[in-house]
Amino acid sequence: MKNWLRSKIKSKLKNYKVAINTIDSSLPKNVTIQKKVAIIGAGIAGLSAAANLAERGFDVTLFEKNDYLGGKVGSWKFESNGETLQVEHGFHAFFRQYYNLRNFMKKIDVYKHLIPISDYVIFYQNGKQQGFAGIDNTPGLNIVDLRKKGVVNFFTFINPLSISFLKLLRFHPTKTFEKYDSVSFETFAKQTMMPSHMRLVFNSFARAFFAEPHKMSLAELIKGFHFYFLSNDDGLIYDVLNDDFEHTFLKPTKEFIVKHNGKIKRNTAINKIEYSNEKFTIQDDIFDYCILSLDVKHAKNLIANSDSLHQFPALKNNFESLKCTDRYAVLRVWTDKFETQKDLPYFVFTDRLKCLDSVTFYHKMEKESAAWSQKNNGGIFELHSYSLSDDLKDDEQIKKQLLDELYHYFPELKGMKIIHEYFQHRDDFPAFHLNQYKNRPTIKTEIPNLFLAGDWVKLPVPSMLMEAAYTSGAMASNYIFNKENLQENLLESVYSYGLLIKE
Ligand SMILES: Cc1cc2nc3c(=O)[nH]c(=O)nc-3n(C[C@H](O)[C@H](O)[C@H](O)COP(=O)(O)OP(=O)(O)OC[C@H]3O[C@@H](n4cnc5c(N)ncnc54)[C@H](O)[C@@H]3O)c2cc1C
Repeated sequence: MKNWLRSKIKSKLKNYKVAINTIDSSLPKNVTIQKKVAIIGAGIAGLSAAANLAERGFDVTLFEKNDYLGGKVGSWKFESNGETLQVEHGFHAFFRQYYNLRNFMKKIDVYKHLIPISDYVIFYQNGKQQGFAGIDNTPGLNIVDLRKKGVVNFFTFINPLSISFLKLLRFHPTKTFEKYDSVSFETFAKQTMMPSHMRLVFNSFARAFFAEPHKMSLAELIKGFHFYFLSNDDGLIYDVLNDDFEHTFLKPTKEFIVKHNGKIKRNTAINKIEYSNEKFTIQDDIFDYCILSLDVKHAKNLIANSDSLHQFPALKNNFESLKCTDRYAVLRVWTDKFETQKDLPYFVFTDRLKCLDSVTFYHKMEKESAAWSQKNNGGIFELHSYSLSDDLKDDEQIKKQLLDELYHYFPELKGMKIIHEYFQHRDDFPAFHLNQYKNRPTIKTEIPNLFLAGDWVKLPVPSMLMEAAYTSGAMASNYIFNKENLQENLLESVYSYGLLIKE
């Protein structure tokens, strides 16, 4: 019976993978006349566009304000107490339904660096742990199976208020936003009298989008559940890179772009562009196409500074209403102690007391960190707070709070000596807050040769975070291929409709 149901669900969800576009294989692949493309911002979205376009013979220039590539997956060196260490923007999970990003990783031969995590674990404030290993991976059945973990119970299924949870299985690419983009997750939790255990699981999920429950759009949360949990049978288990991003991902990506004659200009912030006669002028150079793949904060500035773009009201309006989330913090510490629970996965969520949302055990995960750990007989921990409360302003105060909460969950680390630390306190993550969807810009703009890419752009498929960033850059490239009568690259996604909804 269960197997029959599994195969019905799989077929309803189109075998968990659909093509986003159709390929006309009669068209040529490579451009034969010079077409210059400017790509501004070298995060995953910009790198995706640069790699896809350079490979097809476009004359690509990628501008990046930092001296390192990758944006939020960036990695760089720093000096501390006489040692040179590598640090990253922060821990990243590669979920298995990141189809397009993974295909690119296969193409540039970096897929081999992905290693699986053993479980998706949440630490509760009382120290107890919630894991999700062993539940049925089939969408829908996985929700029923959550009873094994105490997240739902018999009453959840017979309580009339629980009918509301069916929304999660009814994701619709447009109607979900029309109905629920103005409802917060907190309101939903109150209306449904969500059981406390379930609320904790939802809260930690919402925080992965850097939003507090009262600000998080319920529509975005439903999309997130659909994308990560209810549209595929990969489960919540994901992979991580086994060494730092520079060696495993960014260097090979850069080499791929350069091999295809793409130019990469680092330390080059572009703060405005000129548009006239259907061409773009950027730093005295003229381009046929432009892709803006900056983060929200800097893209807003660029649009505001670029007077020649202000004649396009939708573009201006869309950018004016885009927002970043609250501040977040990432603290990595190199220490003289280890956690004692050796069987934990590389990364755990915590039910935050005030600040700490997750802990990554780098000494277990990355080769370079493991080597440091072995040499120095100490652990490397990364602490994330995905949204800092207003009263936590000062860096020292935030660091202390993060460490105090680490000691709450791992008392055995109390008294540890911090040999090196790297702290980031930032405010550049896109908001998936209430009422953002309506004016969220799409990849195509009013200007036929200007495209947008990034995890903040409205996509026609339910993709999120790194996969959304990669897919948006690849879709922008496809639009340019299309304009030049070239073959598009095949892109894939999970099915865009929930289990209980008709297309
Ligand atoms: C702490 C943390 C943890 C995360 N964990 C995960 C995870 O586990 N899984 C997951 O899928 N996602 C995760 N994410 C999200 C993921 O990192 C992003 O969705 C993705 O990397 C965004 O890529 P992007 O290219 O859209 O933007 P960005 O990475 O923000 O890239 C924008 C680029 O534009 C550049 N730029 C800005 N201004 C200018 C200018 N004026 N001129 C030139 N260049 C400019 C920036 O320097 C940057 O390189 C996490 C994010 C953070 C911060």
